[in-house]
Amino acid sequence: MACSATLNQLIDILVAKPANLSDAALAQLSSGIQTDTRILQPGEVFLALRGEKFDGHDFVQTAIAKGALAAIVDFEYQNPQFPVLQVEDTLKAYQKIGRWWRDRFEIPVIGVTGSVGKTTTKELIAAVLATQGSVHKTHANFNNEIGVPKTLLELSAEQDFAVIEMAMRGKGQIAELTQIARPTIGVITNVGTAHIELLGSEIAIASAKCELLAEMPKDGVAILNHDNPLLMEMAAKVWQGKVVSFGFDGGDIQGKLIDSETLEVAGMQLPLPMPGRHIGANYMAALAVAQVLGIDWSALKSGIEVDMPKGRSQRLELPNDVVILDETYNAAPEAMLAALNLLADTPGKRRIAVLGAMKELGERSHQLHQRVGETVRKLNLDALLVLVDGQDAEVIAQSAQGIPSECFTTHADLAARLKSFMREGDRILFKAAHSVGLDRVVSQLRAEF
Ligand code: ATP
Ligand code: MG
Repeated sequence: MACSATLNQLIDILVAKPANLSDAALAQLSSGIQTDTRILQPGEVFLALRGEKFDGHDFVQTAIAKGALAAIVDFEYQNPQFPVLQVEDTLKAYQKIGRWWRDRFEIPVIGVTGSVGKTTTKELIAAVLATQGSVHKTHANFNNEIGVPKTLLELSAEQDFAVIEMAMRGKGQIAELTQIARPTIGVITNVGTAHIELLGSEIAIASAKCELLAEMPKDGVAILNHDNPLLMEMAAKVWQGKVVSFGFDGGDIQGKLIDSETLEVAGMQLPLPMPGRHIGANYMAALAVAQVLGIDWSALKSGIEVDMPKGRSQRLELPNDVVILDETYNAAPEAMLAALNLLADTPGKRRIAVLGAMKELGERSHQLHQRVGETVRKLNLDALLVLVDGQDAEVIAQSAQGIPSECFTTHADLAARLKSFMREGDRILFKAAHSVGLDRVVSQLRAEF
């Protein structure tokens, strides 16, 4: 059962001011904390969050009508019919309850952060731990100041492990999420240039990721990417506790790829659930978690399955032996390079990259787009099609000299060209920032073939 607390307990935790609640009502046990009236169940407590589009305070009446025990709100409610708990800040209240509930479980809690590969690594860790017990994990990509408490509030006594993804948009956020989730094991997948516009430099990004370690209990374990020297250096400054490092170049857990879908570690060959060197790196992080928890890897020899959200590491098969690598959800620079390498390693006849701009890169943008074009050239791909919105995407094509390249300014033109261009045996990677909307082109191709 998800977070159950009496209203009296919630008042204590939140230092809340109750209104319109009898003593009997205050002693009632809630069956959960819900922020969305569309899925609210009778017996839950409704917590009103203010978002960009909606204000939960507009739905208090609906929540009570649907059987909520009470509503947690942030101002003095005039309507005497509504049982409410008044707090100063409902988001902080949500986080406080999340932390309180998490503290009731003495299970390993694994916090996962990093520039790229958080969701993949979270899924891999969960799949590895699932060979030993019941795992609670962040659903999809619910990794922010709302998603983390939401995930914690869904913890229940039947679960043996929790794997929590933590994302960052700026300095201080990972520290905040760590204080809420209190991980016993902290994983940092890598440090790169994603969101560099917000933080200014790789050092600032590394330092922000390492807030996870700075806030972890001293007897926790840090799992770090050995192949990322900046991360190792920054981590050493804030973390004196136990470290298990992983990497291809060295580390406590050192792996090597036998082929794009097989990782060899400590003399054991383990099949990867998805191909790619970057997946191998993430998998080593999951193996490190298993090792820390005393879990034998041999159960992994027969393989694990992970369920990635749409538009990430997805392989779609079209008729005529055409394969699409759908990476349209987003594009951080390191993820872009990893995906291009994967395309180059994918067996097939022609390898085609359909790319668009990466975003939030500030003054590094031009240089990072150049690197993408140069990588397309180095990997000697067969063709490059670029959807241009703004100057940066064009830089990719300009820097890929020697590779047949075409630029398009509309989704329709790109889709039309692809239809005439595609041939049997093609392997086609689609990758760009989410806002470029390459997913629409993929959907159109899928619908028409
Ligand atoms: P978000 O910030 O959107 O939550 P994330 O950190 O959770 O992203 P994933 O969703 O796991 O990252 O992966 C995003 C993309 O990054 C994947 O589709 C894949 O192309 C790439 N990727 C995953 N792991 C790595 C890695 N270790 N190195 C480079 N690229 C990676
Ligand atoms: Mg994610």
